[in-house]
Amino acid sequence: MKEIVVLRLGHRPERDKRITTHVGLVARAFGSKGMLLASKDTGIKKSLDDVTARWGGTFFLKNDINWKREIKDWKNSGGKVCHLSMYGLNLSDISHEIKTANKLMIVVGAEKVPPEIYELADWNVAVGNQPHSEVAALAVTLDRILDTDPLKHDFSNPKLEIKPMPIGKKVTEK
Ligand code: SAM
Repeated sequence: MKEIVVLRLGHRPERDKRITTHVGLVARAFGSKGMLLASKDTGIKKSLDDVTARWGGTFFLKNDINWKREIKDWKNSGGKVCHLSMYGLNLSDISHEIKTANKLMIVVGAEKVPPEIYELADWNVAVGNQPHSEVAALAVTLDRILDTDPLKHDFSNPKLEIKPMPIGKKVTEK
């Protein structure tokens, strides 16, 4: 897998700030290139840009995008689209196929997603067929489909870096 972007649909600035920020943090921490946000929320962009400035890497956040246009352009450039939905095929049964994509857009909803997304996606994928969280669904999906361990992802030019310790906290500042 070379390139992953996450598309967040249905973000409501008045109630989804924290969870959308967490979707972006997981996307970044597990090695995605960036997140497309189909709503206008400059606060989310600022939070994620701040994290990237301090903790490194080149994660981007594109705010207020037209999701249909982004999906169309992505597919026209050879990318595949995986929509996470509890109604889809179980990830355990389909991850081998998703792994073959060189470019993958992972779509996560907030409120009810537009029905069209089920047709546009190459795969509608359930992280188990029970309702839970987009943050958990994204983390498990990235862990299952990446060829390299997303927990060991390297970030370029960090200002802050954690030295893992059995007890206590050690952070180096550059
Ligand atoms: N009620 C909404 C609906 O029926 O579409 C779903 C709300 S759910 C909290 C928000 C998002 O979490 C969904 O759009 C989906 O992307 C993700 N999600 C929740 N449970 C999931 C599951 N079991 N598998 C995959 N994605 C899931």
